[in-house]
Amino acid sequence: MQMEQNGTFWNTQKRCLLRSDPGRVVIGLPGDFGTGASVGKGGVKNRPKQPIALYSSVQRQRSLPKPLAANDLRPKNRLCPELKCPKMSGFALSGHEVKTRSVGRSFSHLPRFASGSSKLLLQLLLMPLRVSNVRLSVEAPESGLQERVARSLHVPAGEIREWKILRKSLDLRDKRDIQFVYTVEVIVPEEDQGRILDRVRRESNQVEAFNDEPFQLPDPGGEPTRHRPVVIGSGPGGLLAAYFLAERGYRPIVLERGTPVHERIRDVQAFDSGGKFEPESNYLFGEGGAGTFSDGKLTCRGTGPDVLRVLELFAECKGQQPGKPSILYYHRPHLGSNRLPAVVKAIRRKIESLGGEVRFKTRVEDLLIRDGRLVGLATSSGQITTDVAILATGHSARDVYTMLVNRGVPVVQKPFQIGVRVEHSQELVNRVQFGSRHYEDQLGNADYSLVVKGFADVFTFCMCAGGHIIPSVSQEGYFGTNGMSLSKRDSPYANSGLVVTLPTSEFGADDPLAGMRVQEMYEKRAFELGRGEYSCPVQRATDYLQGTRSSSVPAFSYPRGAVTANLADVLPPFIAKALQAGLPSMDRAWRGKFLRDAVLVGPESRGSSPVRIVRDESTRESPIQGLYPVGEGAGYAGGIVSAAVDGLRTARAIIGRFATIK
Ligand SMILES: Cc1cc2nc3c(=O)[nH]c(=O)nc-3n(C[C@H](O)[C@H](O)[C@H](O)COP(=O)(O)OP(=O)(O)OC[C@H]3O[C@@H](n4cnc5c(N)ncnc54)[C@H](O)[C@@H]3O)c2cc1C
Repeated sequence: MQMEQNGTFWNTQKRCLLRSDPGRVVIGLPGDFGTGASVGKGGVKNRPKQPIALYSSVQRQRSLPKPLAANDLRPKNRLCPELKCPKMSGFALSGHEVKTRSVGRSFSHLPRFASGSSKLLLQLLLMPLRVSNVRLSVEAPESGLQERVARSLHVPAGEIREWKILRKSLDLRDKRDIQFVYTVEVIVPEEDQGRILDRVRRESNQVEAFNDEPFQLPDPGGEPTRHRPVVIGSGPGGLLAAYFLAERGYRPIVLERGTPVHERIRDVQAFDSGGKFEPESNYLFGEGGAGTFSDGKLTCRGTGPDVLRVLELFAECKGQQPGKPSILYYHRPHLGSNRLPAVVKAIRRKIESLGGEVRFKTRVEDLLIRDGRLVGLATSSGQITTDVAILATGHSARDVYTMLVNRGVPVVQKPFQIGVRVEHSQELVNRVQFGSRHYEDQLGNADYSLVVKGFADVFTFCMCAGGHIIPSVSQEGYFGTNGMSLSKRDSPYANSGLVVTLPTSEFGADDPLAGMRVQEMYEKRAFELGRGEYSCPVQRATDYLQGTRSSSVPAFSYPRGAVTANLADVLPPFIAKALQAGLPSMDRAWRGKFLRDAVLVGPESRGSSPVRIVRDESTRESPIQGLYPVGEGAGYAGGIVSAAVDGLRTARAIIGRFATIK
């Protein structure tokens, strides 16, 4: 710890400084501020007479509480002598000692306790613990959770000053006692933390000190740019990159080949009802990207502050629905295809209000490259000069992949997932998952996930409870399936992707686009089987195992009509064989109920990208300077949240490097 006797600040040895001067208390990172009030014997000399404001380096990113009242800062005399000696540990706020360790520690929590200044200050004095595996029966009210947590900590419930749910999941293993399983963050006084930990650790490892990282974006860097950055594609990857650039003052221009979301909804609905296919406005192209008509399951393998920040933004932008578990902590957060357009539009509005711009019906057709550096873009609406462009065009923009390869942008092959979609009645899935008791009113329709290990693993993917199968088409003359559900998840059908990863050794050629050609070949075959009308090839799962066409199939949810087919014809042989091997194991996992009435459709060919656009791991830039490949199409994400986080991280790299445009 370091204290400047002349009176300005304490360096808390951690990353954080606390300074008081007349009228304010400042909390921030070293370098955030200069001089301040004197501190010496007797405590903080210039006891504030004005309202005190709180500042921090996170203030630019998030709103902090209103200024404090003057009384909230009160030097505590008994600590004053310590101020001069190396053992100095703090001063008093509202009668509470602020230990320097606490200040440094608590800095990370500033953004998370922004509902009232006194409350915030209290957090500076308190220490969080994480309590995991707290269980409540699904039939018990959640109001009983605090009592359960207190019991885990061996403290009276009243002693828990502050707590919140970090994660909530469902344990369906014992059908007689289905339980929610919580991880909870609890704030306890710092002096109690060690005592509680000592006591509970002897019994279990359910409780631990909790030290989550704060979300941070850097200040703008120093490298000059002459033009506004451009983001190509408004899917989750592009949209989130644009949002964080806009938040930091870069005024990005977003170029989107498709239409705004309200027009897109009309085009998609018309196509579903048998209308014509719109090549630039469909399930995959248009505002919000594939994310807009996705099912809106916001699951992500990663965790941490970037994931949380993305979920917070979705929640702020109409993503959180009253009466549904919070998308910030539920293990399977779900928005539903009907909610996503509003979320996408709200994020676009935020970008615009921060000085950014979104140009629809503007397709990027070429990169203008000089001496290995990006200098501009050729678009369907003319040329745009730029030296920084984020390429977030998704995995369906095959024209973009071809253009990149022609331009010499390094692109490599990548294994991708392909398979079929399986559909059951939702009632069957509910009984398999919930048993004979009906939990549908409390829990909604059940979902599931299955993995079968084998020479190639077969796994379920993008399971849509109470959903529909849709034509996932972005190119005239090609056909693939996918699934979605509305927020209520209330259709009588349950569908899921059933996919296998196709290794590059099965692509049949070495060039970067060989995998894409494999996708195209099977999608074209499916289109032809579907009589050129986007009818869906369909087969009973039991017939698939026999290799015979089905004479009839149970009712299923695809909207544009169906043709019976042998689905092995629309799959690479490697995949067809892996499914043959894996399906019986799935049936065993469901005690003979998986295959009996299951319907298979396909191909499910757009699960992931067949290429990776090369980029530097740390700068995130392609070998073409100024070009930043992002998201699923670039081969760095799989799903809404991971694409969004990838966009965020690339925005961070750009912010840290380049100055804003004046
Ligand atoms: C039906 C369906 C359901 C899904 N369900 C889920 C789910 O529940 N949960 C989940 O996590 N994931 C789901 N996904 C996957 C998820 O939508 C994608 O992983 C995610 O959208 C990828 O984001 P992205 O930004 O990388 O690309 P995309 O969302 O594909 O966005 C790319 C954007 O770029 C635009 N574009 C393309 N080329 C150009 C060009 N040349 N010029 C200008 N613009 C261009 C496109 O129009 C599009 O808007 C689903 C996908 C589909 C199709």
